[in-house]
Amino acid sequence: METKQILERRVNLDYSSGMPVDPEVFEAMKPYFIEKYGNPSSLHYLGAEARKALEDAYVEVGGLIGVELPDREICFTSGATESNNLAIKGVALRNRKKGDHVVISAIEHISVINTTKYLQRLGFRVTKVPVDSYGTVDVKVFESSLTQGTVLASITYANNEIGTIQPIKEIGRIAKEKGIPLHVDGTAAVGKVPINVDEEHIDLLTVSSNDMYGPKGVGALYIREGTLVEPIIHGGGQQRGLRSGSENMPGIVGIGKASELTKSRMPEERKYLETLRDRLSKGILNSAGEIYLHGHPTHRLPSNTVVRIFGVEGESVIMELDRRGVAASTGSACASKNLEPSHVLAAIGLNEIERHGVIQFTLSRLNTKEHVDYVLSVLPEITKKLRDLSPVWKFRDRLPELYKPHQHESHE
Ligand code: PMP
Repeated sequence: METKQILERRVNLDYSSGMPVDPEVFEAMKPYFIEKYGNPSSLHYLGAEARKALEDAYVEVGGLIGVELPDREICFTSGATESNNLAIKGVALRNRKKGDHVVISAIEHISVINTTKYLQRLGFRVTKVPVDSYGTVDVKVFESSLTQGTVLASITYANNEIGTIQPIKEIGRIAKEKGIPLHVDGTAAVGKVPINVDEEHIDLLTVSSNDMYGPKGVGALYIREGTLVEPIIHGGGQQRGLRSGSENMPGIVGIGKASELTKSRMPEERKYLETLRDRLSKGILNSAGEIYLHGHPTHRLPSNTVVRIFGVEGESVIMELDRRGVAASTGSACASKNLEPSHVLAAIGLNEIERHGVIQFTLSRLNTKEHVDYVLSVLPEITKKLRDLSPVWKFRDRLPELYKPHQHESHE
Protein backbone atom coordinates (compact mmCIF):
# COMPACT_ATOMS: atom_id res chain seq x y z
CA MET A 1 0.00 0.00 0.00
CA GLU A 2 2.72 2.41 1.00
CA THR A 3 4.81 1.67 -2.12
CA LYS A 4 1.77 2.20 -4.35
CA GLN A 5 1.07 5.59 -2.78
CA ILE A 6 4.65 6.63 -3.24
CA LEU A 7 4.82 5.63 -6.90
CA GLU A 8 1.57 7.35 -7.75
CA ARG A 9 3.05 10.63 -6.72
CA ARG A 10 5.20 12.51 -9.22
CA VAL A 11 6.80 15.78 -8.23
CA ASN A 12 9.14 17.49 -10.65
CA LEU A 13 11.59 19.87 -9.00
CA ASP A 14 14.10 19.69 -11.86
CA TYR A 15 12.69 22.12 -14.39
CA SER A 16 16.16 23.36 -15.35
CA SER A 17 16.66 20.24 -17.44
CA GLY A 18 13.48 20.83 -19.44
CA MET A 19 10.22 22.75 -19.26
CA PRO A 20 6.85 21.80 -20.72
CA VAL A 21 5.53 24.00 -23.51
CA ASP A 22 2.73 26.31 -22.37
CA PRO A 23 -0.57 25.15 -23.99
CA GLU A 24 -1.17 28.69 -25.33
CA VAL A 25 2.26 28.64 -26.93
CA PHE A 26 1.53 25.24 -28.46
CA GLU A 27 -1.79 26.53 -29.87
CA ALA A 28 -0.02 29.52 -31.43
CA MET A 29 2.59 27.25 -33.05
CA LYS A 30 0.19 24.66 -34.48
CA PRO A 31 -0.93 26.47 -37.69
CA TYR A 32 2.69 26.96 -38.70
CA PHE A 33 3.18 23.23 -39.21
CA ILE A 34 0.33 22.52 -41.65
CA GLU A 35 -1.66 25.59 -42.75
CA LYS A 36 0.82 28.45 -42.59
CA TYR A 37 3.83 26.60 -43.88
CA GLY A 38 5.30 29.43 -45.94
CA ASN A 39 8.93 30.49 -46.06
CA PRO A 40 9.52 34.14 -45.10
CA SER A 41 11.85 34.52 -48.10
CA SER A 42 9.07 33.77 -50.65
CA LEU A 43 7.56 36.67 -52.55
CA HIS A 44 3.99 35.32 -52.65
CA TYR A 45 1.17 35.38 -50.10
CA LEU A 46 2.52 32.40 -48.11
CA GLY A 47 5.84 34.18 -47.74
CA ALA A 48 4.12 37.38 -46.63
CA GLU A 49 2.22 35.46 -43.97
CA ALA A 50 5.42 33.88 -42.67
CA ARG A 51 7.30 37.20 -42.82
CA LYS A 52 4.60 38.84 -40.73
CA ALA A 53 4.88 36.05 -38.14
CA LEU A 54 8.67 36.41 -38.11
CA GLU A 55 8.44 40.16 -37.60
CA ASP A 56 5.84 39.78 -34.85
CA ALA A 57 8.13 37.32 -33.09
CA TYR A 58 11.06 39.77 -33.29
CA VAL A 59 8.83 42.36 -31.61
CA GLU A 60 7.64 39.99 -28.86
CA VAL A 61 11.13 38.74 -27.95
CA GLY A 62 12.52 42.27 -28.16
CA GLY A 63 9.70 43.59 -25.97
CA LEU A 64 10.63 41.20 -23.18
CA ILE A 65 14.19 42.56 -22.90
CA GLY A 66 13.71 46.24 -23.80
CA VAL A 67 14.98 46.16 -27.39
CA GLU A 68 14.33 49.34 -29.42
CA LEU A 69 14.84 47.94 -32.93
CA PRO A 70 13.72 44.30 -32.73
CA ASP A 71 13.69 43.58 -36.48
CA ARG A 72 17.29 44.78 -36.74
CA GLU A 73 18.66 43.56 -33.43
CA ILE A 74 17.15 40.11 -32.78
CA CYS A 75 18.38 36.98 -34.53
CA PHE A 76 16.66 33.61 -34.08
CA THR A 77 18.85 30.56 -33.55
CA SER A 78 18.46 26.89 -32.67
CA GLY A 79 18.78 27.60 -28.94
CA ALA A 80 20.97 29.05 -26.24
CA THR A 81 24.02 27.01 -27.23
CA GLU A 82 23.97 28.42 -30.75
CA SER A 83 23.27 31.95 -29.50
CA ASN A 84 26.29 31.73 -27.20
CA ASN A 85 28.42 30.38 -30.07
CA LEU A 86 27.27 33.11 -32.45
CA ALA A 87 27.89 35.87 -29.91
CA ILE A 88 31.31 34.70 -28.79
CA LYS A 89 32.83 33.34 -31.99
CA GLY A 90 31.05 35.97 -34.05
CA VAL A 91 32.39 38.98 -32.14
CA ALA A 92 35.86 37.52 -31.49
CA LEU A 93 36.44 36.48 -35.10
CA ARG A 94 35.05 39.68 -36.60
CA ASN A 95 37.22 41.85 -34.34
CA ARG A 96 40.37 39.77 -34.52
CA LYS A 97 42.45 42.59 -35.98
CA LYS A 98 41.64 44.69 -32.90
CA GLY A 99 42.78 42.08 -30.40
CA ASP A 100 42.96 38.45 -29.33
CA HIS A 101 41.63 38.51 -25.77
CA VAL A 102 38.26 37.38 -24.37
CA VAL A 103 37.07 37.66 -20.76
CA ILE A 104 34.52 35.27 -19.21
CA SER A 105 33.62 34.31 -15.63
CA ALA A 106 34.60 31.10 -13.88
CA ILE A 107 30.97 29.97 -13.70
CA GLU A 108 29.87 30.23 -17.31
CA HIS A 109 27.80 27.48 -18.88
CA ILE A 110 29.75 24.78 -20.72
CA SER A 111 28.54 26.19 -24.06
CA VAL A 112 30.40 29.41 -23.27
CA ILE A 113 33.46 27.70 -21.82
CA ASN A 114 33.87 25.27 -24.71
CA THR A 115 33.36 28.04 -27.28
CA THR A 116 36.20 30.01 -25.70
CA LYS A 117 38.34 26.83 -25.64
CA TYR A 118 37.81 26.66 -29.40
CA LEU A 119 38.91 30.29 -29.69
CA GLN A 120 42.03 29.41 -27.68
CA ARG A 121 42.87 26.78 -30.27
CA LEU A 122 42.68 29.57 -32.86
CA GLY A 123 45.17 31.62 -30.85
CA PHE A 124 42.92 33.76 -28.63
CA ARG A 125 43.72 34.32 -24.97
CA VAL A 126 40.94 33.81 -22.44
CA THR A 127 40.76 35.20 -18.89
CA LYS A 128 38.34 33.66 -16.40
CA VAL A 129 37.21 36.10 -13.72
CA PRO A 130 36.77 34.40 -10.33
CA VAL A 131 33.63 34.49 -8.20
CA ASP A 132 33.18 34.69 -4.43
CA SER A 133 31.61 31.97 -2.29
CA TYR A 134 28.12 33.17 -3.30
CA GLY A 135 29.05 32.82 -6.96
CA THR A 136 29.14 36.58 -7.60
CA VAL A 137 31.67 37.86 -10.14
CA ASP A 138 34.38 40.02 -8.62
CA VAL A 139 33.68 43.32 -10.41
CA LYS A 140 37.11 44.80 -9.59
CA VAL A 141 38.90 41.78 -11.05
CA PHE A 142 36.58 41.97 -14.05
CA GLU A 143 37.58 45.59 -14.59
CA SER A 144 41.29 44.91 -14.25
CA SER A 145 41.10 41.95 -16.63
CA LEU A 146 39.94 44.15 -19.52
CA THR A 147 42.96 45.19 -21.57
CA GLN A 148 43.77 46.96 -24.82
CA GLY A 149 43.46 43.69 -26.72
CA THR A 150 40.12 42.58 -25.21
CA VAL A 151 37.54 42.17 -27.96
CA LEU A 152 34.68 40.68 -25.90
CA ALA A 153 33.50 40.02 -22.36
CA SER A 154 30.92 37.29 -21.77
CA ILE A 155 29.29 37.05 -18.35
CA THR A 156 26.18 35.04 -17.50
CA TYR A 157 23.17 36.95 -16.14
CA ALA A 158 22.36 34.24 -13.61
CA ASN A 159 24.01 30.93 -13.08
CA ASN A 160 21.73 28.03 -13.97
CA GLU A 161 23.10 25.81 -11.18
CA ILE A 162 23.44 27.97 -8.08
CA GLY A 163 21.00 30.69 -9.17
CA THR A 164 23.20 33.68 -8.31
CA ILE A 165 22.36 36.83 -10.27
CA GLN A 166 25.37 38.88 -11.37
CA PRO A 167 25.75 42.67 -11.04
CA ILE A 168 25.32 43.00 -14.81
CA LYS A 169 24.52 46.71 -14.79
CA GLU A 170 27.86 47.49 -13.12
CA ILE A 171 29.72 45.01 -15.32
CA GLY A 172 28.02 46.54 -18.37
CA ARG A 173 28.93 50.08 -17.34
CA ILE A 174 32.60 49.12 -16.99
CA ALA A 175 32.66 47.31 -20.36
CA LYS A 176 30.93 50.24 -22.02
CA GLU A 177 33.42 52.77 -20.57
CA LYS A 178 36.23 50.70 -22.04
CA GLY A 179 34.47 50.26 -25.38
CA ILE A 180 34.35 46.46 -25.06
CA PRO A 181 31.21 44.62 -26.23
CA LEU A 182 29.48 42.68 -23.43
CA HIS A 183 27.70 39.41 -24.18
CA VAL A 184 25.37 38.10 -21.48
CA ASP A 185 24.08 34.53 -21.38
CA GLY A 186 20.52 35.17 -20.23
CA THR A 187 19.32 31.58 -20.61
CA ALA A 188 18.47 31.01 -16.96
CA ALA A 189 17.29 34.56 -16.23
CA VAL A 190 15.26 35.94 -19.15
CA GLY A 191 11.60 35.67 -18.20
CA LYS A 192 12.36 35.05 -14.52
CA VAL A 193 13.62 38.51 -13.62
CA PRO A 194 13.24 41.81 -15.51
CA ILE A 195 16.13 42.52 -17.91
CA ASN A 196 16.66 45.65 -19.97
CA VAL A 197 19.50 45.62 -22.48
CA ASP A 198 19.84 49.41 -22.56
CA GLU A 199 19.66 50.07 -18.83
CA GLU A 200 22.11 47.25 -18.15
CA HIS A 201 24.49 48.13 -21.03
CA ILE A 202 24.22 44.68 -22.62
CA ASP A 203 25.44 44.48 -26.23
CA LEU A 204 24.52 40.86 -26.91
CA LEU A 205 22.01 38.76 -24.95
CA THR A 206 21.28 35.04 -25.29
CA VAL A 207 17.61 34.15 -24.90
CA SER A 208 16.33 30.58 -24.53
CA SER A 209 12.81 29.57 -25.49
CA ASN A 210 12.39 26.42 -23.45
CA ASP A 211 13.40 28.14 -20.21
CA MET A 212 10.25 30.28 -20.50
CA TYR A 213 7.75 27.54 -21.43
CA GLY A 214 8.51 27.76 -25.15
CA PRO A 215 9.60 24.90 -27.42
CA LYS A 216 13.11 23.44 -27.36
CA GLY A 217 15.37 23.88 -30.37
CA VAL A 218 14.83 27.61 -30.74
CA GLY A 219 16.49 30.60 -29.13
CA ALA A 220 17.42 34.16 -29.90
CA LEU A 221 20.39 36.46 -29.75
CA TYR A 222 20.00 40.18 -29.21
CA ILE A 223 22.78 42.07 -31.00
CA ARG A 224 22.99 45.82 -30.40
CA GLU A 225 23.03 47.69 -33.68
CA GLY A 226 26.58 48.55 -34.65
CA THR A 227 28.12 45.48 -32.91
CA LEU A 228 30.27 43.69 -35.46
CA VAL A 229 29.49 39.95 -35.63
CA GLU A 230 30.79 37.36 -38.08
CA PRO A 231 28.12 34.76 -38.90
CA ILE A 232 28.95 31.18 -37.96
CA ILE A 233 26.38 29.58 -40.28
CA HIS A 234 26.74 30.53 -43.93
CA GLY A 235 24.19 30.05 -46.68
CA GLY A 236 21.28 31.92 -48.22
CA GLY A 237 21.69 35.04 -46.09
CA GLN A 238 18.48 34.84 -44.06
CA GLN A 239 18.10 37.02 -40.94
CA ARG A 240 20.21 39.87 -42.30
CA GLY A 241 22.96 37.43 -43.22
CA LEU A 242 23.63 36.63 -39.56
CA ARG A 243 22.10 33.18 -39.53
CA SER A 244 21.45 31.50 -42.83
CA GLY A 245 18.93 28.72 -43.31
CA SER A 246 15.14 28.71 -43.69
CA GLU A 247 13.66 29.95 -40.46
CA ASN A 248 12.11 27.44 -38.03
CA MET A 249 8.74 29.17 -38.17
CA PRO A 250 6.76 27.05 -35.65
CA GLY A 251 9.63 27.43 -33.18
CA ILE A 252 9.97 31.16 -33.84
CA VAL A 253 6.22 31.70 -33.37
CA GLY A 254 6.61 29.64 -30.17
CA ILE A 255 9.38 31.76 -28.69
CA GLY A 256 7.44 34.89 -29.68
CA LYS A 257 4.29 33.72 -27.89
CA ALA A 258 6.32 32.50 -24.90
CA SER A 259 7.94 35.96 -24.63
CA GLU A 260 4.57 37.72 -24.81
CA LEU A 261 3.06 35.52 -22.08
CA THR A 262 6.18 35.66 -19.93
CA LYS A 263 6.28 39.45 -20.00
CA SER A 264 2.77 39.77 -18.60
CA ARG A 265 3.08 36.90 -16.12
CA MET A 266 6.56 37.57 -14.77
CA PRO A 267 5.76 39.82 -11.77
CA GLU A 268 3.16 37.46 -10.33
CA GLU A 269 5.06 34.29 -11.18
CA ARG A 270 8.24 35.65 -9.65
CA LYS A 271 6.51 36.27 -6.31
CA TYR A 272 4.85 32.85 -6.43
CA LEU A 273 8.12 31.06 -7.12
CA GLU A 274 10.01 33.02 -4.47
CA THR A 275 7.46 31.99 -1.84
CA LEU A 276 7.74 28.32 -2.83
CA ARG A 277 11.54 28.51 -3.06
CA ASP A 278 11.86 30.06 0.39
CA ARG A 279 9.50 27.49 1.89
CA LEU A 280 11.63 24.73 0.36
CA SER A 281 14.98 26.24 1.42
CA LYS A 282 13.86 26.94 5.00
CA GLY A 283 12.26 23.52 5.30
CA ILE A 284 15.38 21.73 4.10
CA LEU A 285 17.68 23.79 6.34
CA ASN A 286 15.51 22.93 9.34
CA SER A 287 15.19 19.24 8.44
CA ALA A 288 18.55 18.16 9.91
CA GLY A 289 21.88 19.57 11.07
CA GLU A 290 24.84 20.40 8.82
CA ILE A 291 22.80 21.36 5.78
CA TYR A 292 23.91 24.46 3.88
CA LEU A 293 22.35 26.73 1.29
CA HIS A 294 24.46 27.78 -1.72
CA GLY A 295 24.29 30.66 -4.14
CA HIS A 296 23.58 34.24 -3.12
CA PRO A 297 20.96 34.47 -0.33
CA THR A 298 19.05 37.35 -1.98
CA HIS A 299 20.45 38.10 -5.46
CA ARG A 300 19.23 34.81 -6.85
CA LEU A 301 16.76 33.36 -9.30
CA PRO A 302 13.25 32.88 -7.89
CA SER A 303 13.26 29.30 -9.14
CA ASN A 304 16.47 27.81 -7.70
CA THR A 305 17.32 26.19 -4.38
CA VAL A 306 20.73 24.62 -3.98
CA VAL A 307 21.57 22.76 -0.80
CA ARG A 308 24.50 20.74 0.45
CA ILE A 309 23.82 17.93 2.86
CA PHE A 310 27.04 17.11 4.60
CA GLY A 311 27.91 13.42 4.82
CA VAL A 312 25.73 12.20 1.94
CA GLU A 313 26.32 11.81 -1.76
CA GLY A 314 24.13 14.00 -3.98
CA GLU A 315 23.56 11.16 -6.47
CA SER A 316 22.27 8.87 -3.71
CA VAL A 317 19.83 11.56 -2.55
CA ILE A 318 18.60 11.98 -6.15
CA MET A 319 18.02 8.22 -6.45
CA GLU A 320 16.21 8.04 -3.10
CA LEU A 321 14.05 11.02 -4.08
CA ASP A 322 13.34 9.39 -7.45
CA ARG A 323 12.15 6.22 -5.67
CA ARG A 324 9.63 8.45 -3.93
CA GLY A 325 8.55 10.09 -7.20
CA VAL A 326 10.58 13.29 -6.88
CA ALA A 327 12.84 14.62 -9.66
CA ALA A 328 15.78 16.75 -8.53
CA SER A 329 19.32 17.14 -9.77
CA THR A 330 22.94 17.27 -8.68
CA GLY A 331 23.65 20.14 -11.02
CA SER A 332 23.52 21.18 -14.65
CA ALA A 333 21.88 18.54 -16.85
CA CYS A 334 24.55 19.35 -19.38
CA ALA A 335 27.42 18.82 -16.92
CA SER A 336 26.10 16.00 -14.76
CA LYS A 337 26.27 13.16 -17.30
CA ASN A 338 29.78 12.18 -16.25
CA LEU A 339 28.79 12.36 -12.56
CA GLU A 340 31.58 14.87 -11.98
CA PRO A 341 30.40 17.82 -9.91
CA SER A 342 30.50 20.94 -12.02
CA HIS A 343 33.18 23.62 -12.28
CA VAL A 344 30.64 26.04 -10.74
CA LEU A 345 30.80 24.32 -7.36
CA ALA A 346 34.61 24.33 -7.48
CA ALA A 347 34.57 28.04 -8.39
CA ILE A 348 32.54 28.92 -5.27
CA GLY A 349 35.18 27.18 -3.17
CA LEU A 350 33.67 23.79 -2.33
CA ASN A 351 36.18 20.97 -1.90
CA GLU A 352 35.68 17.63 -3.62
CA ILE A 353 33.79 16.00 -0.76
CA GLU A 354 31.54 19.02 -0.38
CA ARG A 355 30.83 19.19 -4.10
CA HIS A 356 29.49 15.64 -4.03
CA GLY A 357 26.85 16.55 -1.44
CA VAL A 358 25.07 19.19 -3.50
CA ILE A 359 21.44 18.90 -4.60
CA GLN A 360 19.66 21.34 -6.88
CA PHE A 361 15.92 21.96 -7.05
CA THR A 362 14.43 24.12 -9.82
CA LEU A 363 10.81 25.13 -9.59
CA SER A 364 8.28 26.17 -12.21
CA ARG A 365 4.81 27.69 -12.00
CA LEU A 366 3.44 24.14 -12.21
CA ASN A 367 4.77 23.44 -8.71
CA THR A 368 2.58 23.84 -5.66
CA LYS A 369 3.00 24.19 -1.91
CA GLU A 370 1.93 20.52 -1.66
CA HIS A 371 4.86 19.49 -3.88
CA VAL A 372 7.28 21.33 -1.63
CA ASP A 373 5.72 19.86 1.51
CA TYR A 374 5.92 16.37 0.06
CA VAL A 375 9.66 16.76 -0.57
CA LEU A 376 10.10 18.15 2.93
CA SER A 377 8.22 15.16 4.34
CA VAL A 378 10.50 12.58 2.66
CA LEU A 379 13.88 14.29 2.87
CA PRO A 380 14.63 13.78 6.60
CA GLU A 381 14.32 9.99 6.34
CA ILE A 382 16.55 10.00 3.22
CA THR A 383 19.20 12.11 4.95
CA LYS A 384 19.16 9.83 7.99
CA LYS A 385 19.31 6.64 5.94
CA LEU A 386 22.25 7.84 3.83
CA ARG A 387 24.12 9.34 6.78
CA ASP A 388 23.78 6.06 8.68
CA LEU A 389 25.62 4.40 5.76
CA SER A 390 28.21 7.13 5.30
CA PRO A 391 31.79 6.84 6.61
CA VAL A 392 32.25 10.59 6.04
CA TRP A 393 29.33 11.24 8.40
CA LYS A 394 30.38 8.59 10.92
CA PHE A 395 33.93 9.89 11.23
CA ARG A 396 33.08 13.56 10.69
CA ASP A 397 34.85 14.71 13.86
CA ARG A 398 38.08 13.02 12.77
CA LEU A 399 38.02 14.01 9.10
CA PRO A 400 41.08 16.31 9.05
CA GLU A 401 43.12 13.56 10.68
CA LEU A 402 41.70 10.81 8.42
CA TYR A 403 42.19 12.85 5.26
CA LYS A 404 45.87 13.59 6.01
CA PRO A 405 47.97 11.96 3.25
CA HIS A 406 49.57 8.65 4.20
CA GLN A 407 53.33 8.70 4.46
CA HIS A 408 53.80 6.78 1.19
CA GLU A 409 51.44 9.18 -0.63
CA SER A 410 53.22 12.26 0.57
CA HIS A 411 55.41 14.09 -1.93
CA GLU A 412 57.62 15.58 0.77
N1 PMP B 1 23.36 28.62 -20.98
C1 PMP B 1 22.84 28.27 -19.79
C2 PMP B 1 23.03 29.18 -18.61
C3 PMP B 1 22.10 27.06 -19.66
O1 PMP B 1 21.58 26.73 -18.48
C4 PMP B 1 21.93 26.23 -20.79
C5 PMP B 1 21.18 24.92 -20.67
N2 PMP B 1 19.83 25.11 -20.39
C6 PMP B 1 22.48 26.65 -22.02
C7 PMP B 1 23.19 27.84 -22.07
C8 PMP B 1 22.33 25.81 -23.27
O2 PMP B 1 20.98 25.69 -23.61
P1 PMP B 1 20.50 24.71 -24.81
O3 PMP B 1 20.93 23.34 -24.39
O4 PMP B 1 19.02 24.89 -24.83
O5 PMP B 1 21.16 25.17 -26.06
